[in-house]
Amino acid sequence: MKYDFALCDLHPQFTMVPTTIGLVSTYGDHNTLNADRCPRPACTRHYTADFGYFSSTIGHPMDLGEMSQKPRCYLNHEGQAMVLTLVDGSLKWICPFDGCNTVQETTEAG
Ligand SMILES: [Zn+2]
Ligand SMILES: [Zn+2]
Repeated sequence: MKYDFALCDLHPQFTMVPTTIGLVSTYGDHNTLNADRCPRPACTRHYTADFGYFSSTIGHPMDLGEMSQKPRCYLNHEGQAMVLTLVDGSLKWICPFDGCNTVQETTEAG
């Protein structure tokens, strides 16, 4: 389902804000990636639907983390990284894909 905001998976009390990450490929090409990032000072957490949650620091290689351990939508969209947000006031993982209603409970209270 469409989400109004993403929450940081490390700090769910923080609503992530849209940002653009600059990327440099191994060929030296510059690309940008639209992502959400945690506004908490010193937190480098980002989220995109393709990569899920990961830490990114300017000037350092992107550390995408362990992809297999990230919650994903296996119903219709294998490979779609789920996003942490509030559903009816409760912390849930949801599939960000428009029209998909996959919801996964969080294992720990936030
Ligand atoms: Zn954070
Ligand atoms: Zn889905």
